[in-house]
Amino acid sequence: MTVTRWAVGLCWLCRKPNQPVIFIGPVTVNGVTAPGFACAGCCEWSRRYVSAYTHQLDACPAS
Ligand SMILES: [Zn+2]
Repeated sequence: MTVTRWAVGLCWLCRKPNQPVIFIGPVTVNGVTAPGFACAGCCEWSRRYVSAYTHQLDACPAS
């Protein structure tokens, strides 16, 4: 079960501290994984980015 919960902390995308952030997924660097958090504005940007990426994949011809 996935629980989406807002907390106050640092946004990993715009790096602004002390604002409402939500878990966006695990971030792995050099084999170490940490939970990533983002603010509402960055979540909205991420949604658009993921949507555009998905459309790009849909446009690829099937091999
Ligand atoms: Zn942000």
